[in-house]
Amino acid sequence: MNVKVASPSVGQEEIDAVIDVIKSGNYVSGKRVKAFEEAFAEYVGAQYAVAVSNGTDALINALFGARVSPGNEVIVPPLTFFATVASVIHVGARPVFADIDPETYCLDPVFDREVLTERTAAILPVHIYGHPAEMDELNEIVYEEYDSRDRLRKRHKPYVIEDAAQAHGAEYKGKKVGSLADASCFSFYATKNMTTIEEGGMVTTNDGRIAKYVQVLRNHGMVNRNDHMYVGANNRLGEIGGAVGLIQLRKLDAMNMKRRSNTEYLHGGLSDMKLPWLGLPKVKPYVKHAWFWLPIFIDEDELGMSTLEFRDFLKEAGIGTRFRYVEPLYHQPALRPYGEHYSKLYLPNAEKICGKMLGLPNHQQLSQEELDYIVQTFKELG
Ligand SMILES: *Cc1c(COP(=O)(O)O)cnc(C)c1O
Repeated sequence: MNVKVASPSVGQEEIDAVIDVIKSGNYVSGKRVKAFEEAFAEYVGAQYAVAVSNGTDALINALFGARVSPGNEVIVPPLTFFATVASVIHVGARPVFADIDPETYCLDPVFDREVLTERTAAILPVHIYGHPAEMDELNEIVYEEYDSRDRLRKRHKPYVIEDAAQAHGAEYKGKKVGSLADASCFSFYATKNMTTIEEGGMVTTNDGRIAKYVQVLRNHGMVNRNDHMYVGANNRLGEIGGAVGLIQLRKLDAMNMKRRSNTEYLHGGLSDMKLPWLGLPKVKPYVKHAWFWLPIFIDEDELGMSTLEFRDFLKEAGIGTRFRYVEPLYHQPALRPYGEHYSKLYLPNAEKICGKMLGLPNHQQLSQEELDYIVQTFKELG
């Protein structure tokens, strides 16, 4: 048995679309990207969608779009893919870490208020593994400063930007992610819930000013052929990405449904065994999870094995897993030049969870036989 941890669902329709683009001779900034943007905006329920070259560029452009700049700070969770944090540094701002909720693994909206300052320009929650962050509370966060006589001196509201790179199609209180903040960012990397085959990303927003800015920035900051209003870069999505993205978007709900039923099957099978060393994910009743992963939490003492050893055991048995994120991101050596304090940070929930989680295969290509095999392998371990 060889159960793969991820496998994109791409079929003949996508292949035909790629050939069609190649034959057309129009490879950039054409009707296919436009159609994909319109369909994506409608799908998430946002007014604007602007396609970009990947998820990281979506984050960078959304931060620029929200005018986050040097001297500013952006609040980020420590349990995410490093691009969330790097994007803040790319726009010249400083990432400030706040702890996660131990149940959803997303940025905890009641994080330590010390991190909120007059320099906080944005809050960047991540819908990690596909579970939406607590957006209502996050959207209400306001920085207020009082003088010695308790009079309000300063009040400002940071932008909220969703990192939805793992949560295409997820919902929070009946609304799709991508419509829940000032701007939202998606990735269409090969293993995400949907892909553009080549790299791809999207920024969605209801703010016309942010949309316009990102549209210009992604194309060298160019408003007309010879007029550069801003120092932008080339962050465009190609027509192949547009054509494939449109097809994948049409399939997204069905693909997510399969991820969900696979997850429910595994979750059910594993929770029936009542394994004392195994923590299964909890889902808030008012969200629809996109199940980018099926994260499991390993109690290493109970199991008598490290998470890494357990991962190797599953690998031997032919079951691929994801082992991420191994450490809170403030420990990454890449951050050292940006402040000595990063490596000394200690956020208790993140410290407890990082390195003890594995992602089980739950993708839409899994067969019933593979699902049963996963459950059986756990059963034998007892
Ligand atoms: C994948 C991912 C990104 C980056 O997307 P790319 O398309 O790979 O640049 C950013 N944030 C999170 C949470 C991701 O999972």
